[in-house]
Amino acid sequence: MEETASDRNSGEVYPTIENFYKFCGQGRLMAAKCDRCGRLFVPPRVLCPDCYSSNFKWLQLSGRGKLQTYSTIHVAPKAFAAQAPYVVGIVRLEDGVNLPGRVVLGKGQEAKIGMDLVVDFESPPVGGWPRWPRYLFKPA
Ligand SMILES: [Zn+2]
Repeated sequence: MEETASDRNSGEVYPTIENFYKFCGQGRLMAAKCDRCGRLFVPPRVLCPDCYSSNFKWLQLSGRGKLQTYSTIHVAPKAFAAQAPYVVGIVRLEDGVNLPGRVVLGKGQEAKIGMDLVVDFESPPVGGWPRWPRYLFKPA
């Protein structure tokens, strides 16, 4: 789904990180699509490094992809220590962009390169950090 320049008055369509996470809160994984060359950015950028355009449209992605590489974190930063060990990976989305993210596996499931994943969203922890909705990946 694309939102056009005529929507810009709403202020919601600018390719900012804030708007990216606002969409996450609505359960939508959105990319900024360069109006000139069509390159996708997740998360968004304000300037396309390929053609130097600053005009973007939001494009909703399918959220499906394959795990390209991953790492299991055993010694986590303080904010995430309670969740360790956990998996972070780089997911090649079927829309053609790579997106790093946490991979949440069920009991007995192991991360495997090439496994099919789908995006999911979680609300911010009450009183915790971060204070915005997050995306994550889980087995498809
Ligand atoms: Zn471009």
